Amino acid sequence: MSSFRRKPESIVYVTAGNNLIPDQVRNDKMGIFRLFASSSLFAMQQKYSRIFLKPGREASLRRGHPWLFSGAVLSVEGRPEPGDVVVAATHKRESLALGFYNPRCDIVFRLLTTNMDETIDESFWIRKIRTAMELREKVIPRGTNACRLINAEGDGMPGLIVDRYDRYLVFSIATAGIEKNREVVLDGLLREINPEGIYERSEGRARQLEGLEDRIGCAHGNFPGTAEITENGLHFRVDMLTGQKTGFFLDQRSNREIVEKFSDQATCLNAFSYTGAFSVYCARGGAKRVISVDSSEAANETARWNLESNGFSPHEYPIVRADVFSYLRETDERFDIMILDPPAFAKAKKDVAKAARAYKDVNLQAVRRIRDGGILATFSCSNYIDEDLFGKIVAGAVRDAGKTARLLQTLGPGPDHPTNLAHPEGRYLKGLLLHIST
Ligand code: SAH
Repeated sequence: MSSFRRKPESIVYVTAGNNLIPDQVRNDKMGIFRLFASSSLFAMQQKYSRIFLKPGREASLRRGHPWLFSGAVLSVEGRPEPGDVVVAATHKRESLALGFYNPRCDIVFRLLTTNMDETIDESFWIRKIRTAMELREKVIPRGTNACRLINAEGDGMPGLIVDRYDRYLVFSIATAGIEKNREVVLDGLLREINPEGIYERSEGRARQLEGLEDRIGCAHGNFPGTAEITENGLHFRVDMLTGQKTGFFLDQRSNREIVEKFSDQATCLNAFSYTGAFSVYCARGGAKRVISVDSSEAANETARWNLESNGFSPHEYPIVRADVFSYLRETDERFDIMILDPPAFAKAKKDVAKAARAYKDVNLQAVRRIRDGGILATFSCSNYIDEDLFGKIVAGAVRDAGKTARLLQTLGPGPDHPTNLAHPEGRYLKGLLLHIST
């Protein structure tokens, strides 16, 4: 990935206990105070309030799961405020971990570290940002200047998402804990990455649950609203202000690479196409025809720009504004490749049954319109539909269509969207690459 990372001379770190302390912090009075405070377990335990867990309720934390729910808490020592760092401890007062506390929501504790010598200060956040960046430097393919830089719990920063679009960053904060550390995290991003502009899109249900108001707007520098990025050498326009997510579905990059490989001479349907990113990959892969279907005119307009700017005319690669459910029922065409990437049908637990019916219906209609020997790449990004349930829903749809599906590959987000293996809730995007036959 072409890097806009600052040169390493900007800050020198020295080790104090298990903490890295920047030279410039060490040299001021506050820095000296932190140096001593952070090297002392005693000081740390003075510093943070403690929550004690009911007997046995520490098991998930010991297994590495990063959340504790309100029902697990026996008592609270001190007066921690929402977003404060606390120590989680067993009922026998054994300290287990440091994390963000928020008694307002169901998830009362979000893990930061199990290293009890750690202090959650500026140097902690700088190390997290650096570690996240080092991973991206390794996994982002050539010809790509956009990626997810920080993936919340997956990068040990609960509730923080940071996406990079060339010289710009778009971030969102979903927890009171990160909200309290907003300035320090922003400073860290500025210092480590030096972007031209940073835009904040902290909004939505998760924030409401944490008792936070939405905050949207420019947080630093110049912010043009749209960016032109390259992904695997292809060009895309990203509407960072009002587009879905932070503007682009970065999580689908590696799945687009896979679909491209099947596309030679194919007739493709990209259903729920958003800004047409899968369509552009299919076209480059040699597809004869790619139809993109989405109900949003704004998304379709960008899809048109994306196809054209990569040299593909909308004549051979039409973009259709339609409801996918109706389109699939009405079309006479048969497809070699179909991509089904709908929005999250289940946004809450209570929606699961209804969402399952919608996933089944759309997959059934899709499978009916795939040619013998064709490929279906089907996805769900609903948090509440796990991999197992999704597999069962799609298998039911294939059976009802009277077809056979062979699993070629399970699909998920790319490696710039890491998730904690002990935290299945973090793996919201799941997909199946299927070979469909009679
Ligand atoms: N695959 C895309 C992301 C899809 S997001 C990518 O990689 O970029 C889901 C899209 O579904 C959104 O663009 C939304 O406008 C569209 N959508 C939602 N409901 C729809 C429906 N019933 N019919 C057609 N499009 C729909």
